Amino acid sequence: MLRLFNTLSRTKEDFIPIEPGKVKMYCCGPTVYNYQHIGNFRTFIFEDLLLRVLTYNEYKVKYIMNITDVGHLVSDSDEGEDKMEKSAKLLGKSIMEIAEYYTGVFKKDSELLNIISPEVFCKATDYIQEQIDLIVCLEKNGFTYPTSDGVYFDTSKFPGYGKLARLDIEGLKEGARIEFSAEKKNITDFALWKFSPENEKRQLEWESPWGKGFPGWHIECSAMSKALLGNHIDIHCGGIDHIPIHHTNEIAQSEACSGEKFVNYWLHCEFLDFGNEKMSKSTGKFITLSTLSGNGYSPMDYRYFLLTAHYRKKQKFSYEALEGARSGIKNLKNKISNLKNSFSESESENPGLSDEYKTRFTDKINDDLNMPEAVAVMWDMLKDENLSSKQKLILVSDFDRIFGLGLDKTEEKMVTLVPDEIYDLIEKRKEAKKSRDFKAADEIRELIKSKGFEIKDTKEGVEINTI
Ligand code: AMP
Ligand code: ZN
Repeated sequence: MLRLFNTLSRTKEDFIPIEPGKVKMYCCGPTVYNYQHIGNFRTFIFEDLLLRVLTYNEYKVKYIMNITDVGHLVSDSDEGEDKMEKSAKLLGKSIMEIAEYYTGVFKKDSELLNIISPEVFCKATDYIQEQIDLIVCLEKNGFTYPTSDGVYFDTSKFPGYGKLARLDIEGLKEGARIEFSAEKKNITDFALWKFSPENEKRQLEWESPWGKGFPGWHIECSAMSKALLGNHIDIHCGGIDHIPIHHTNEIAQSEACSGEKFVNYWLHCEFLDFGNEKMSKSTGKFITLSTLSGNGYSPMDYRYFLLTAHYRKKQKFSYEALEGARSGIKNLKNKISNLKNSFSESESENPGLSDEYKTRFTDKINDDLNMPEAVAVMWDMLKDENLSSKQKLILVSDFDRIFGLGLDKTEEKMVTLVPDEIYDLIEKRKEAKKSRDFKAADEIRELIKSKGFEIKDTKEGVEINTI
């Protein structure tokens, strides 16, 4: 029986899907105004492991992930700039260009990390009408009120608001955790629709029954989940930072419109901890997959590193720990390659023992995704002299359906990741060429060369090769 820790009840619960054999799952995806750092990828790999465990248990999973390309403001208090608009201004690009570029890098990095793609990646800007319709529904049901800068959700009208985070609303009022705009009726109220600022043209804005503007960030997930999966779904996930505001508000919006329960199981991944180094995309100081590659670590080293901690525990990142993971995966590959060499059909088999390991492994992954212990079962199995090489190879390949380390590949695919710095230079060169500054473009090409990469202009765009 699969058991999952539900943030809503703060306990491990038996997983019982709404419809037998099927799972509807929605995970909050990236805001594509910048690169995704390795902390973000801890959450995305946790979601990938969850998908793999569900599939291993023979569930048919309909899995959706959103791409936020509008409405996510720099502050949680419905104030400040839209992260996408800010990034576009900073880089002198259109939001579409920024979104396309960072979505592309996110998908490429996900692929390198062996993350299985969701059935649908849905972009917030493709679902504006659905978001407006949901706000209309909330308005009809009496949950909204207008202010001078938008339409807000009145959280005092929604019984049980804050149940996911167990929010202490009274305490919040006193502590004024978030800036409290004078026009908000309650400290926890949030924007459903924001008006475009007067005398300022936003890159992204739409007509609505309330005036020209753009959706608040939380409404996109409620609207897209409803549009693609229906009112009531099995699983919704994200990082723990989403519990107190984003997911709390999603529940309020979805349930206040439909009158039904929104999500049965809420799952959240703890943060990757960088010690004193705060991983902040807004300050531009963060480690990406290509930073790791620049330091000689492959995406699979990082994936193996993540498997060594349970997803609900903080995991401390350090290069020493990553080095440990690298030698772990190297030993694993050596062991597998030795097994392949010593493989012989005449070895005696012990099917009962194979079944025992398979059961032990399944018990671990089904115990709220206990990957560190599942990895330990794999090592015990590999060291067990009562199993034949063939049995071990079959088991390791079966276990790797969960781990996703590509263990049955003989050679580890050598990937040279292109550092983000090179992509930035390519963008600068594109700009230089656009403004016909060919001297600068050539200089940038040379600079790229000095960093070990050669670029070629092709019909499809710039091709990057290592020298
Ligand atoms: P964002 O692009 O900022 O919306 O974040 C994408 C995902 O990464 C969200 O589910 C966040 O909760 C998650 N996240 C952000 N920082 C970390 C971190 N340090 N460790 C793990 N997950 C994170
Ligand atoms: Zn979301």
